[in-house]
Amino acid sequence: MYALVSLLAIAQSSKEPLLGFSSVSSGGQLAAEAKFDSFLDRADLPVWMKRLAAKPHHVGSPYGLKNAEFVLGLFKSWGFDAQIERFYVLFPSPKERLLEIPGFRAKLAEPAIKEDATSKAPGGLPTYNAYSPDGDVTGKLVYVNYGMPKDYETLESEGIDVKGKIVIARYGGGWRGIKPKVAAEHGAIGCLIYSDPRDDGFFQGDVYPNGPFRNPNGVQRGSIADMPLYPGDPLTPGVGATKDAKRLAIKDAATIAKIPTLPISYGDALPLLKTLRGPVAPADWRGALPITYHIGAGDTDVHLKLKFNWDIVEARDVIAKLKGSELPDEWVIRGNHYDGWVMGADDPLSGSVSLLEEAKGIGSLAKTGWRPKRTMVYCLWDGEEPGLLGSTEWVETHQDELTKKAVAYLNTDTIGRGFFSVGGSHSLEKFINEVERSVSDPETHLSIAERARDQRIVAASAADRKDLRDKPDVPIGALGSGSDYSSFLQHVGIASFDMGFGGEDPGGVYHSTYDSYDWYSRFGDPTFVYGLATAQMGGHTMMRLADADILPFDFRNLADTVEKYAKELPKLVDTTRDETVELNRQIKEGTLKATYDPTKPKVLPKVKADVPAIDFTALNKAVARLKEAARDYAITSAHGKPSAELDQALIQTERTLLGSGLPRRPWYRHMIYAPGFYTGYGVKTLPSIREALEQRDWDEAKAEISKVAETLDRLSDAIGTASIATGTISVHA
Ligand SMILES: [Zn+2]
Repeated sequence: MYALVSLLAIAQSSKEPLLGFSSVSSGGQLAAEAKFDSFLDRADLPVWMKRLAAKPHHVGSPYGLKNAEFVLGLFKSWGFDAQIERFYVLFPSPKERLLEIPGFRAKLAEPAIKEDATSKAPGGLPTYNAYSPDGDVTGKLVYVNYGMPKDYETLESEGIDVKGKIVIARYGGGWRGIKPKVAAEHGAIGCLIYSDPRDDGFFQGDVYPNGPFRNPNGVQRGSIADMPLYPGDPLTPGVGATKDAKRLAIKDAATIAKIPTLPISYGDALPLLKTLRGPVAPADWRGALPITYHIGAGDTDVHLKLKFNWDIVEARDVIAKLKGSELPDEWVIRGNHYDGWVMGADDPLSGSVSLLEEAKGIGSLAKTGWRPKRTMVYCLWDGEEPGLLGSTEWVETHQDELTKKAVAYLNTDTIGRGFFSVGGSHSLEKFINEVERSVSDPETHLSIAERARDQRIVAASAADRKDLRDKPDVPIGALGSGSDYSSFLQHVGIASFDMGFGGEDPGGVYHSTYDSYDWYSRFGDPTFVYGLATAQMGGHTMMRLADADILPFDFRNLADTVEKYAKELPKLVDTTRDETVELNRQIKEGTLKATYDPTKPKVLPKVKADVPAIDFTALNKAVARLKEAARDYAITSAHGKPSAELDQALIQTERTLLGSGLPRRPWYRHMIYAPGFYTGYGVKTLPSIREALEQRDWDEAKAEISKVAETLDRLSDAIGTASIATGTISVHA
C-alpha cells in the first residue's frame, strides 16, 4: 500500500505544483506527506477502539472521563500540548419510562447477546430521546409515517387530525427531532418513534448477531433538542457553558422538545400498531411488519409516562495543539467526537481512532524535526450525541480568538467501508479534490477522488454526467447539520469540511447497545483499512493547510456553486406558481373531488393565495460580481507573494458570509449553508430566501434577497482585498 502511495506522489510531483505551493515547496511537501504515511500503523486502530468501547462512555459518565484521560496521555506522548477543557451542560437521563396498552407493557430494553461481549456491560443509558420533556399522557394512537410536514398534508386529506392524540412515527425521512416538533405543532400530546424493519431491520438483511441489521429489540437513541434553532447546551445559547455562565431556567430553554417522546424497537411497536384502525396507510407509508398498516386512530388508549433526571454534567473536550513555527496565530483545526450513546464503536470511535492515528503520524513526523508552519489543533469532542455540546460550547467560548485565527476546520465522525464523500466550503473545493487525489482507496487501489467520481457518474442524470466527466473537480456537498462542524461553519464562519467513507457497510445498530467492537470488527470496516485511509486523508489535508505558502483558497468553484443555487430559486417560484394555479383550478372546477371514492370521503385542500412575481435582479448582480472577483483572484494569486496579510485576507473571506442571523434563529448566521428548519440534518442553501419561498412568505423572501446580495458583495470585496494582498496588482479595478 505504501509503495502505491508514493507512486501517486511521484505522479503528482511531475505535474503542476500543489495548490498554494511553489514547485520547490511542493516537492518538500510531498516528501513530508510520504514520511507521515510511513508512520501510520493500521494495527493501532482496533486496539484503541476495543479499549475505548469497553464500557459505556456517554457525556458525563465515569468511563467517558477515563477515555478522555487515556487520549490526553496519547497526545502528550506524541509531543502535543494537550489539555482537557470542561463545560457544564444540561443532560437529562431517564428516571422513569412507561409505555402500555391494556394487556401489553413495552419492554424498552436491549437484552445481552452472547455473541456481543459488551452487550451485558452495566451503566449504559436506557433507550430514550434526550431532551424530551417529562410527561404523563394517555391518548389514542395515530400513525404518521416519517412524521415530516408533508405526511401531515396526507393526514389532512384523509380527514385525520392528531389533536389530543399520541403519534407513532417511524425513523427515517428526515432528522428525528423534526418528528415531535411537527407533531406538537399539530396538537399531538405525545410521540413514539420506532425503527421499522423495512428501513434497517430484517427487510434489509439478517439481523444481529447473525447479520448486521437491527434485531427486534434494537432501539435508536438520539437527541430531539430543536437543533435547527441552536445546537449545544440548551441553557446557554450563544455563550460557552463554563462553570459561572449565565443559564436559562429549564422551562425557558427553547430547544427542549414540547411533547414527551420515546424511541422504541419494532418488537415493542408491533402490538401498538396492531391497535390502529381507520384508513389503510398509503403504499409508501407501509413498513415490513406482518400487518396491514392503518393510519388510525386506534381504538385503544395508549399510556406514555416519562420522567428524567435534569442534571448538569461535565463535558470534557480533549484539545491538543502543535504550535506553528512561522505563523503560530493561524490555526488549522481537526475534530471528531469520542462520546457514544452506549459503546459507540462505529459512532463515533471508528472516526476517533482514525483521528488519533493521524495525530500519532503528525507527532512522529514532528519528532524527526518537522514542524507545521501554522498551528495544528486536534480536538476530541464530548457530548456530540445529545446535541453537539462539546464542540458548540468550545466554539462559543473561544469565538473571538477563532474569528481571528481559524483557517479551517476538518470534521469526521463515523467511518465505514466504501466511497469517500466530503461536504463543506466551496472556496476549498479545488483544494480538497487535490488532496483526494493523493490517497488511494484501500480495496480498489483507485485514488479516492477517482472512485468518488465514478460513483457519482453512475448515479447521475444524463445532464450532470457531462459535468462530472468534463470538470476537473468532483463537486462537494453543502453542509447542513448532524456533526461537530456546525458551530465552526454556521456560527463563526470558518471554512469547514466533513468527510468520511461509507456506503458499503450496513447500518443496523446505529445508536443502540449493539454498536460495539464485536459488531464493528465483523460488519463495519473489519480490517480497518478505511480507518487508515481516513487518517491519511486527514493528515494530508491538515499538513497542506498548515504548510502552504499561500492558503489554498480558490473562489471560482464557490462562485459557480452559488450561481447554481441562485438559479434554483426563480425555478422554485415558477414551479410553486404553476402548482398553485393548477391546484386552485382543480378545486374550483370540481376535478379533484370527482376523483375521490364517494364511499371514502376525503377532505379537499384549501385554495391557496396566488404567487406574486419575485425580483431576483439584486441577487443575480451580486453573483455576477462574485464570479468576476473570483476570476481576478485566480489570476493574481498565481504569482502572488506569500504574506501574513494575504493569509488574514483569505481567512476572513468565509467570515463575510455571516449575516445578522437567519429569521427566527439568529444563532445560524451563514447566509449560504444552514440545516433546514424542517429537515434538521438536510441542508438548505441560501437558506433565508429558500425557506421563505417554501413557506410562501413572499415579503420575507424579498427582504432576504437584498440581504443575501449584500452578503455576496461583502465577499466580493473581501476577495478583492485578498487580490490586492497578493502583491501582483497595485489597484483592484
Ligand atoms: Zn457521531
